[in-house]
Amino acid sequence: MTISEPRLDRDDLTTIGQELHRFAAELYPICRSITGNGLRETLKKIQEIVPLEIREVPSGTKVFDWEVPKEWNIRDAYVKNQSGRKVIDFQEHSLHILNYSVPMQARLSLSELRTHLHSIPQHPDWIPYRTSYYKPDWGFCLRHRELQALEEGEYEVCIDTSLEDGNLSYGEIALRGESSDEVLISLHACHPSLANDNLSGVTVAAFLARLLREKKLRYSYRFVFIPGTIGAITWLATNQENTKRVRHGLVLTCIGDAGGFHYKKSRRGDAEIDRAMAHVLKHCGEPFEVLEFSPYGYDERQYCSPGFNLPVGCLMRSVWGTFPEYHTSADNLEFIRAEKLAHSLRVCTQAIEVLEGNRSYQNQNPYCEPQLGKRGLYGSRGGQAIPEEIHARLWVLNLSDGSHSLLEIAERAGLPFSAIREAANVLLESGLLTEVVAVS
Ligand SMILES: [Zn+2]
Repeated sequence: MTISEPRLDRDDLTTIGQELHRFAAELYPICRSITGNGLRETLKKIQEIVPLEIREVPSGTKVFDWEVPKEWNIRDAYVKNQSGRKVIDFQEHSLHILNYSVPMQARLSLSELRTHLHSIPQHPDWIPYRTSYYKPDWGFCLRHRELQALEEGEYEVCIDTSLEDGNLSYGEIALRGESSDEVLISLHACHPSLANDNLSGVTVAAFLARLLREKKLRYSYRFVFIPGTIGAITWLATNQENTKRVRHGLVLTCIGDAGGFHYKKSRRGDAEIDRAMAHVLKHCGEPFEVLEFSPYGYDERQYCSPGFNLPVGCLMRSVWGTFPEYHTSADNLEFIRAEKLAHSLRVCTQAIEVLEGNRSYQNQNPYCEPQLGKRGLYGSRGGQAIPEEIHARLWVLNLSDGSHSLLEIAERAGLPFSAIREAANVLLESGLLTEVVAVS
């Protein structure tokens, strides 16, 4: 009934970490946006890992209080100086263009050009990431030291983009489990060359889906690879039936950097996913913090809007906006680490293992302790007692009165869920427990 955690020992973690990083590196150069061919190309690349279905929602589609915007595509963009040299070149880095810039051909003085340039004086070697999705505008982003080196004179601006009726693309994969109740895994795939935010989430989710495809699952799983905000709103507006089946959910973002884990709880605050993540992080061996819900951040904002109030939390390492590399060219492939991506994947599989295995049982021998010794349950098979194993059995027996789930028992016992699950399996085999079927 339970999935066993994929065998992620030290060697496997190293190998998977390298694979995750390699995949992030393949996606990194693509100029993604909330619509357009960069996003589509990214979804097609993910199809090499899992059979993602790509869906297209036409521009102009009303989605609650929003509307699917026109599709943006870019072929080239540059600024040339008087001698014809490109001083800003989109081909060098996808962050050089203000994302969603309208088409533009112009000759401008330096002072006119400067009103369309964005840089970060505190970090003169980093290119900022800027967007203008909902207000028609154009601009370039560049390193501050490049901006300072621009000389007086006339500049030629070329922005070869299109902003036309088209589609918003998103990717979805549904994995069938025994139950039609679903676990939703969501991540944004709209940022251009930025690694932690959010190629880390994209790669970990793709590999997580690949791992789960091979398992017999209790829940059904739905992975959505969507543009941030408008993508989540579009998905929710066009999948309202599916939302009724969501029992647990996670947004994955910024999970490749060297920082400790942060889990932001769902709006409900006490959802099973909130408790499962807090429990897994407590036993994961890395620093972590559990944060209360707030109506700002990533797409959990949409899933946790009051009309839906879905039990969806957000797993991060460093929190968006708190690390200086956030939304700059320094959020690059060096900023994310193979080992951290692999550990994030492991934390996700452990949380899913909790959801899959969390059930309630009834002790069939509740009057005093059952005599475990005569059933061969008071020592491990080799005759060497492992205290954790025995403790776990005693905790499960004591709290299995039908009103405590295994996760609650694990929390109270201070033991990893896997130890409690294993104890319950042994006690079930010996007939000391029966499952309590949840009434929903
Ligand atoms: Zn972002």
